[in-house]
Amino acid sequence: MTAHHDLFQSLEGFPIELQKIYQKSFTSRKGLTYGLIRTAEGKKLVVWGENDAVLADPFQGKCYPHTSTLKICDLSPPNAICLMELFPYTKPVSLREHKITIGTGDRLGVATPGHIRAVQKFGVRPVLAQQSVRENTQTGRSFEEVVSDAAWAVFQENYQDGYGADGDHLKSLQEIKNALDAAVSMITLDLSEKLNPEASDYPKDQLDRRFKEEIDKGDAEVLLHLFLDKEFRFKGRHGEFSIRFDEESAKRNILLFHKAIDFTEEAYQFIFSRFGNRHVVDFEISVDETPFPTTPENHLFFIIALSHRGVKIDALAPRFIGEFQKAIDYLGNLADFRRQFYQHVLIAKDYGNYKISIHSGSDKFSAFPPMGELAEGGLHLKTAGTSWLEAVRLIASVSPSLYREMHRWALSKFGEASKLYHVTTDLNRIPKLEELQDQELPTLLDQDDSRQLLHITYGYLLNAKDGRGKYLFKDKLYQILSQYEEDYWSFLERHIGKHLNSLGVEKNPPSSPFF
Ligand code: ZN
Repeated sequence: MTAHHDLFQSLEGFPIELQKIYQKSFTSRKGLTYGLIRTAEGKKLVVWGENDAVLADPFQGKCYPHTSTLKICDLSPPNAICLMELFPYTKPVSLREHKITIGTGDRLGVATPGHIRAVQKFGVRPVLAQQSVRENTQTGRSFEEVVSDAAWAVFQENYQDGYGADGDHLKSLQEIKNALDAAVSMITLDLSEKLNPEASDYPKDQLDRRFKEEIDKGDAEVLLHLFLDKEFRFKGRHGEFSIRFDEESAKRNILLFHKAIDFTEEAYQFIFSRFGNRHVVDFEISVDETPFPTTPENHLFFIIALSHRGVKIDALAPRFIGEFQKAIDYLGNLADFRRQFYQHVLIAKDYGNYKISIHSGSDKFSAFPPMGELAEGGLHLKTAGTSWLEAVRLIASVSPSLYREMHRWALSKFGEASKLYHVTTDLNRIPKLEELQDQELPTLLDQDDSRQLLHITYGYLLNAKDGRGKYLFKDKLYQILSQYEEDYWSFLERHIGKHLNSLGVEKNPPSSPFF
């Protein structure tokens, strides 16, 4: 209360309209006070102290000299770079040493304080910035803005435990470079365009012919030697299994993965030659967006081939059996999932002790308990769309008319959007908007079909414009999320907390409010 009171009083002489003080952010460095406030123009950084000291401070902003000087600065990416230098805990770091991590993609750039409040209650580290190129295209953001938004939220919450930033689903060296230039601490390499899934179905004669044509003779010999006449045995607390490759299965795997192996090695060298060591950036491989599930044989083949090239990874995202559809629970046989998930875990544990990464991990509540129980080597869970849906839930609660417009728009774009995602949404199962009372609208966010409808159309909703080029929903959406930000953050705290609880992540002892 005192800090609030003092600040309100000392800002009285200055020509700003103070709406809110983010008290946890206030701190001192070298005689200056730094902290976040909200004015009529939005959220700002204040730097405040003796005139000369404020002038020498590196943040870009507008100065208001008085008996002391107040500087008001935008939360821009260039200012975020100054922030990371002055307050190193706001800079993304490698989370390799942390066994359980969660990616909380913040598409709108305003969800992170809620994510932080959720993870602080658990023994888990967050990857707070996590966006793919596809997401950035939909939301009109750059990697710089994504990392900057996360850094300001970390500062706002005074979160000093360390967080990661993930350039997600990157498909080229140029995309990797762009993400690294923005100070990400994690690269997720997407191999979907480098795989040859047809190799699994070639008839035998075609298989042999393609193998001869495509695979360099020396490479073929080395690879076959790595796999043939061997039994790979795995054993853990929850069971054991073994894998053998015959010539045919080895050849199929070689044809399936050979371009992916080359590209992974190239990306690996590109990243780590830049830093000279492996400790700065976490390296994840994703094969989740493929037309076929990743079998334990595929996984083992790939990791052995990569190790042979000297490539070390920190996480692998297989495509699991069953379905990981957006924003709804796991679909499939849980006993099969459990068995195969554990096989992936044991392979990862024996071949570099990397994490198994779960993509499209939002809302997989029935699969979380086995994941948490079995993940011996470590686990990374990626969520993103679910935080967007919590934003829509807030809209449904506080602005029913905006929600209704968005819902209708989403329905009109569903046909187009559903071509980009694999979903089994049935629009007929969604309750009719006209039959729902305003206070019933938030229940649409608890129904699978409407969840998927609102999830896969997020880009359409954000980019919709009227005839004069004005956004139909985006500006209103941001305005409401800012007006009701504490509500949005408590929705997220509860919802991400529910994910971590279901995974069985250990809870931190509650911190005392007196320290
Ligand atoms: Zn993915």
